[in-house]
Amino acid sequence: MHKIKVQTTQQREILDVTQSVSRILKEAGVMKGVCHLFVPHTTAGIAINENTDPNVRHDMLQALDRMVPAAGEYLHAEGNSAAHILASIVGSSTMAFVENGKLVLGAWQAIYLCEFDGPRMRTVLIKVLPG
Ligand code: ZN
Repeated sequence: MHKIKVQTTQQREILDVTQSVSRILKEAGVMKGVCHLFVPHTTAGIAINENTDPNVRHDMLQALDRMVPAAGEYLHAEGNSAAHILASIVGSSTMAFVENGKLVLGAWQAIYLCEFDGPRMRTVLIKVLPG
């Protein structure tokens, strides 16, 4: 298993980790398989989405904020219920295929760590199953 550490800087933000994942694959000499990515956090998620126009990430955060506002009538004593809910909506895992040592992503796709309760140090766990 491999690990990427990401320092987030905002309460809510979407960070492109595609290059870090690609570097891990290269260092590990992985040529072909299924790359599983998992974030071991309850207030962050991971997703694949548009990699070119940063406004897409902005719009995603705005839409998520409208769906689950940070402030609300939540009971959870830590005060970060909205982050927990968003983490479940986005999900804590994703995957991508690996061929010829490279991630097989669409031309406009990137892998994003989605922070909902930052800033914090986050971890992305990576495991590649050959095949
Ligand atoms: Zn909490």
